Amino acid sequence: MEGPQERVLAPSTLFAERDIPLGSMLRDALGLTVIVDNDVRASTLGEYLFGLSKRPASFLNVFAGTGIGSGFIDRGRLLRGASNSACEIGHHSIDWEGLPCGCGARGCLELYAGGLGVARLARELMAGHPDSLLWDLVGRDPARVDARAVAQAAIRGDAASLTVIQTAGTALGAGLANAANLFNPEVLMLGGGLMKLGERFRAAALDTFRARALATARGAARLVDSRLGDDAGLLGASCLWRVGPEGAID
Ligand SMILES: [Zn+2]
Repeated sequence: MEGPQERVLAPSTLFAERDIPLGSMLRDALGLTVIVDNDVRASTLGEYLFGLSKRPASFLNVFAGTGIGSGFIDRGRLLRGASNSACEIGHHSIDWEGLPCGCGARGCLELYAGGLGVARLARELMAGHPDSLLWDLVGRDPARVDARAVAQAAIRGDAASLTVIQTAGTALGAGLANAANLFNPEVLMLGGGLMKLGERFRAAALDTFRARALATARGAARLVDSRLGDDAGLLGASCLWRVGPEGAID
């Protein structure tokens, strides 16, 4: 079957390659049925089936890594949208006149709250903080700064890094509030490598979420951390066959 479940279409703004018939390539090579899907959607399915102790009526999973993705399950149905691209939370704009994004829009959430956004902001702040620990951690080469270096410097009290974490966490919280207003989840899960920025990042995100989400959405949402970490995507991908054509999860 050739369809949205077979091809990798514009996989993200992070990669140059687009429209790759990955499903048929793997099927031909392996002689097996192959289902191709979005990685965060797969991890959402994994957390829903194996991570949560009880299946919530509505479940929004937000994954903050290099970029930001999400998946949503409502009443046992995985939301796909008209062309299998629903829940691209990383590319909803939190600043309509903001930075240009590779997707063609401006001010997309992941430019401010994703790993690449954290690195960009850190580079900008390093210029005005010649004493920042970041300079030593990256061999005095700003091009090498990443979220890991920011986390390491922040643990040692580096002012520039703490500012980066506070700013990125606040941006993430603004995005979470928007998402909660749209989806009204019962459980809002946060995961992804960027959460390793630590409690200050998490607290900035949650404080902003609570300050900005509609009272009805805020009151209903239980915020939880990822239960399965990197295993969620693998477990979910192994169960994509349990998702029917209308999104119903077996
Ligand atoms: Zn974008």
